[in-house]
Amino acid sequence: MRDEPSHPEATPNGGDNSAALPVAKPIARPTAPKTPAVPQPATLPSGYRVDAAEDAVQIALHADSRVAALPSWLASLVVHLTLIILLGLLYLPSEHLPPLGLHAQLTDYELEPLEEQVVNADVSSDDLEVDAPTDQLFAAESEALAEPIDAAALSELAMDSPPMELASFAPEGLLESIGGGSDFSAGGFDARGAASRARMVRRGGGTTQSEKSVEESLNWLARHQHPDGYWSFDHRHEECGPECDQPGNLVTGVKGATGLALLPFLGAGNTPLEGAHKRVVDRGVQALVMMMEPTRNGGSFIDGGEMYSHGIASMALCEAYAMTGDESLRLPAQAALNFICYAQDPDGGGWRYQPRQRGDTSVMGWQVGALKSGYLADLLVPPVVPAKASYFLDSVQLDDGEAYSYEREPAQFRPATTAIGLLCRMYLGVDHENEILGRGVERLAKLGPSKTDAYFNYYATQVIFQYTSGKGDLWKKWNTAMRDMLVAGQLAKGEAKGSWAPGDGDHGKAKGGRLYATALNCMTLEVYYRLLPIYQTQAFEDGFEE
Ligand SMILES: [Zn+2]
Repeated sequence: MRDEPSHPEATPNGGDNSAALPVAKPIARPTAPKTPAVPQPATLPSGYRVDAAEDAVQIALHADSRVAALPSWLASLVVHLTLIILLGLLYLPSEHLPPLGLHAQLTDYELEPLEEQVVNADVSSDDLEVDAPTDQLFAAESEALAEPIDAAALSELAMDSPPMELASFAPEGLLESIGGGSDFSAGGFDARGAASRARMVRRGGGTTQSEKSVEESLNWLARHQHPDGYWSFDHRHEECGPECDQPGNLVTGVKGATGLALLPFLGAGNTPLEGAHKRVVDRGVQALVMMMEPTRNGGSFIDGGEMYSHGIASMALCEAYAMTGDESLRLPAQAALNFICYAQDPDGGGWRYQPRQRGDTSVMGWQVGALKSGYLADLLVPPVVPAKASYFLDSVQLDDGEAYSYEREPAQFRPATTAIGLLCRMYLGVDHENEILGRGVERLAKLGPSKTDAYFNYYATQVIFQYTSGKGDLWKKWNTAMRDMLVAGQLAKGEAKGSWAPGDGDHGKAKGGRLYATALNCMTLEVYYRLLPIYQTQAFEDGFEE
C-alpha cells in the first residue's frame, strides 16, 4: 500500500502545481561576482540575484562592525521581525479549532484583544514582494519610518535575544510528565563528533558497513558538487557514465539541492571547520549564503523548489551555524528563520509552496525541521510559530492524531505524512507516554521500511528511532530491515559508487532524482547520531562525559 507511486507529499515540490514551475534547463556557466570581498565560491547559477546576496554576505563578513554599517534592509528585517512576533502573538487563532486528540487546548495562547488599526496596517503592507527590486523595497521601508532607527538597539533586539522559554513552546499539559521537560531544545547535534558517533552507531545498531555506506554517499555527493560550491538536482558532470543516470529535472531548485546535499555532510559531523569534507561543506555553505535573497520579510531561499527549497536550505544553514558557532553565519541563519516565520499561514499555521498559503504536511515538515535546528543554535524562534504549527497538525490529524493527512481536505491516511506529523509532534513537545503517539509509531512500524519511497523511510526511521531512543525490539526490527536494505541497494562500483537510484514509489523521483535519493538515504543511515534522542538527551549528554 505504501509503495503506491502516488504520494503527493513525497517531493521536493511534488504536488498539484508542478505545471507552474519553470521548464528544466541546463545550469548556465557562472559569471563573475561584482565585489572581491566575497569569499569563494565566486559564482552562482544564472538567475540568482548576486547583488542582493552580496549584501547578506557583506553583513555577515563584517559582523563586528555591523552596527555602524547596518544597512537599511537589515534594519527593515529587524523591524518586521518585531512586528511578526507581536502580531503573531495577537493573531493566533483560537476559534474554529478542530477536535483535539494528541494535542492539548491552545487556549493558553489567547492574548489581549488586538488593536484593529495595528492589524490593518500590517495586513496592507504584508504582501510578498520577493520579486520586487530589493533596493527599492528597502528604500521605501526606510522612508516610511517616522524616526531614525537605533541600529544598535534593533540589532540587539533581533540577534541577541535569549532563547524562548520552551515551556511555552509546546502546548500546555503535554510536558508535565516528562522529567526535566521535553521541548524543542531536546535532541541536538552533539553525537555527530567522531568519538560519540562511533559509540552511537554501536548503540543504535549501525554497522561498519552502514558507516562505510555513509562515507561512500558523501564521496559521491562531494564528486557531484559544482566547482562553484552548489549542487543541482541534475547532478551530472563530464565524468558521469551511463550508470550515474536519473538526474532530477528540477534544475531551478539549486538552493534546495544545495541544502539537501549539505545536510548529510553536517549529519556526519562535517562542518566548514571540521571533518574530512570540510572544504566541500565550506564551499557549499558559502554558496548557500550567497544565494539567499534578502526581502523585507527575511532571507529567502525560494527558487523553483519554492518553500521546499527554503526549508531545506534554512535547515542546512542553521545546522552549520549551530555546529560551528561561526558568527558570519548567524545573521543569514536568523534571516532564513525569519522568512519561515513570515511564510507561515497566518490562519491555519501551516506552510505550502508559497508563503502564507494554506499549509500541507510535507512542506511543513522541512520548516519545522529548520526551526528546530535554529532553536538548537540559539537563534530566535517566536513561540507562537511552533504553537501555530501544532494547531496546523491538529487540522490534518486522523484518528485523534495517530495519523496525518497531506492536507486538511481530503483527509486521507498517507504513510509519509503520518511519519512527518508524528516527528513534528515529538519535536513540538508531545509527551513520550502519550498513548496516541505510541499508536501512531506502532502503525508506522507495522508498515515497515518502504522498498521504493526514500522520503517515507527518512521520516519514519527518525520517528521510530526518536520514540524508542534506538532501543528495544521495535527499533531493532525496523533498523535491521532498513539498514540492510539501504546498504544492499547502494551502487558499489564505478563513478556512481555511493549513490542510490530514486525509487518508483517516491514522488520526488522525477524532480529530485539521484541526488535527492542519495541525500535522503544517507541521512537515514545517519539516524544513530544525526540527532540525539529527544527523550533521552540528558542521559546521553551525561554519557559523553566519560
Ligand atoms: Zn556521476
